[in-house]
Amino acid sequence: MSIDYLALANAGVEKLHPYQPGKPVEELERELGISNSVKLASNENPMGLGAKAKAAIERVLPELARYPDANGFALKTKLADKLGVNTDQLILGNGSNELIDLVYHTFVSPGQQVVFSQYTFIVYAMATQAHGAEAVVVPAKDFGHDLDAMAAAITEQTKLVCITNPNNPTGTFLTRTELEAFLSKVPKQVLVVLDEAYTEYVAEDERHPSIDWLAQYPNLIVSRTFSKAYGLAGLRVGYMVAHPELIGVLNRVREPFNCNSLALAAAEAALGDEVYLSEAVELNRREMARYEAFFEKRGLSYVPSRANFITLDLQRDAAPVYGALLREGVIVRPIAGYGLPTCLRISIGLEQENQRCMDALAKVLG
Ligand SMILES: *Cc1c(COP(=O)(O)O)cnc(C)c1O
Repeated sequence: MSIDYLALANAGVEKLHPYQPGKPVEELERELGISNSVKLASNENPMGLGAKAKAAIERVLPELARYPDANGFALKTKLADKLGVNTDQLILGNGSNELIDLVYHTFVSPGQQVVFSQYTFIVYAMATQAHGAEAVVVPAKDFGHDLDAMAAAITEQTKLVCITNPNNPTGTFLTRTELEAFLSKVPKQVLVVLDEAYTEYVAEDERHPSIDWLAQYPNLIVSRTFSKAYGLAGLRVGYMVAHPELIGVLNRVREPFNCNSLALAAAEAALGDEVYLSEAVELNRREMARYEAFFEKRGLSYVPSRANFITLDLQRDAAPVYGALLREGVIVRPIAGYGLPTCLRISIGLEQENQRCMDALAKVLG
């Protein structure tokens, strides 16, 4: 007798589909019998693991029979110092994705509403569905968030609003004025996650003082990660900053050992590696400019981006171009699943990887 496992699952699970990651290099090479392919699909840091993070990992290896520090004391102390907050305003996660899920586990119940923008991180839609909540999807404005419309979409049933800045998958960037005006309109019982996974790529003098806003907006949660500019995507470590009592509530639900010892040590070392970070940001700035020039020269439309990827709008079905690029050994990210079937998102890689991508695009597009 067979079991209908889906019927056994919680309400909401039936309509979920697994997250579709960027295609792994090994998979493409196995399928096509090729080598030397490049992956520009998951917004990872193309420079690889930094030397300081690597050394920290090696130092921790002999300790791995022990549980990690459940409170992440050393990393939180460093982060608190850097951000100018207290350690009780911080929570660490197995990637910021885990923390986004934790916010939902802790605060979002079936029937409640979560507001987010049309083209944004797909994890918000997935978590909303998984928790049996109602997604209030606000139409995008110029590929980015329409904050006025998002504020207007808040109702008595709204528990959470999720904002990504810079946005993924489009790279759009909200101004300080827009964000502050939005925050001032949100009722205090509605939580706001401001996901700043790409904030390190924004020039320092153009970054918003989002941590300072926490004092005025106790319903605000700022989310960051070590997966992008800090180059630790494979280790899974992210953090949130919020009011200490809000963090205290999240900590009741958090798994005790959610961040492993390698991740804690590497993140702490990466925070202190200013040289690696500035090289990553500089590489990204330089190579982004090269993509823009390439697209402009060929009359291709793209969305100006403040992150470490750029979204190309082919203004026709992008799937055949994606397939043709794969055959050239270049993996980019189709974003039809985000509602953008004419677009491809390209992560900024090393200079030679980007050159491969541009050469392949030139060949494929004719
Ligand atoms: C990549 C990304 C994250 C980071 O996820 P981790 O779980 O920290 O690796 C979070 N939010 C957005 C919008 C992202 O694009």
